[in-house]
Amino acid sequence: PYVVTEPCINCKYTDCVEVCPVDCFYEGPNFLTIQPDECIDCNACVPVCPVEAIYPDDELPEEYQHYTEWNEYLANQW
Ligand code: SF4
Repeated sequence: PYVVTEPCINCKYTDCVEVCPVDCFYEGPNFLTIQPDECIDCNACVPVCPVEAIYPDDELPEEYQHYTEWNEYLANQW
């Protein structure tokens, strides 16, 4: 699945939510997350993210590794 990372925090754009064909983005107070069981790896969200916050989980930069767990946890809370 794809994962939303730090640059998304406090970003007010929701272009990714609009293009996702399976509606797997979940919105919290100041961050969006992707529900990993629902993401179909289509890549549609990556080019529309103005802050480049979205990565496939196997291409996450080292400093964002922990976001995989956070996306799953938070998507299930929201
Ligand atoms: Fe949605 Fe596709 Fe992005 Fe997954 S990769 S979050 S299915 S737009």
